[in-house]
Amino acid sequence: MADAIDTLTPAEDHPKAAPGDLNHIRRFVNTLDLERLTDDIATPDTLKNWLAERGLIDERAELTEADVRQAHAVREALRKLLLANNGDPLDPDAVETLNAAAKSAELQVRVGPDGVAQLAPVRTGIDAAIGRLLAIVHTAMADGTWPRLKACALHDTCEWAFYDWSKNRSGTWCDMKVCGNRSKARAYRERKRAGN
Ligand SMILES: [Zn+2]
Repeated sequence: MADAIDTLTPAEDHPKAAPGDLNHIRRFVNTLDLERLTDDIATPDTLKNWLAERGLIDERAELTEADVRQAHAVREALRKLLLANNGDPLDPDAVETLNAAAKSAELQVRVGPDGVAQLAPVRTGIDAAIGRLLAIVHTAMADGTWPRLKACALHDTCEWAFYDWSKNRSGTWCDMKVCGNRSKARAYRERKRAGN
């Protein structure tokens, strides 16, 4: 499996995109922009369209405000996992949220016509969509790509999801020039404040 990962390369037009379906997870987490405070899946319609565009939900599904809240809870739980991939302690509440979502989706092993076994949701609607996202997470954990999907370490301000293509998996910031420098400036201000 490690050999397969070594042959992966970043997309030229998008150097922080994750390989394959894992990029759905990165994009899902990044539907909330903490800096601009914009949310691409803030309503039942925008959430449904976002999921349908990626084949994660039936086009005919009708979503509710409660579904939006559930999607947001899962999104933030996933962000916590990506922060843990960047060195934060793992948030036990996030684990609980994801386990509850997996239970609601009723994920089960299904062998496709191609003979490949995959996790697939029994449920429909938002539960199924979230189940498909969790199945992608599971696959990424199995194939070794998961630890490279991280959330930017500039807490509260950024936390943008990015795929760390660096050789030694040492990436901390979504963008060194932006968040790396902002972090240095923040540390400088805090040292100065502590000194006064
Ligand atoms: Zn950042």
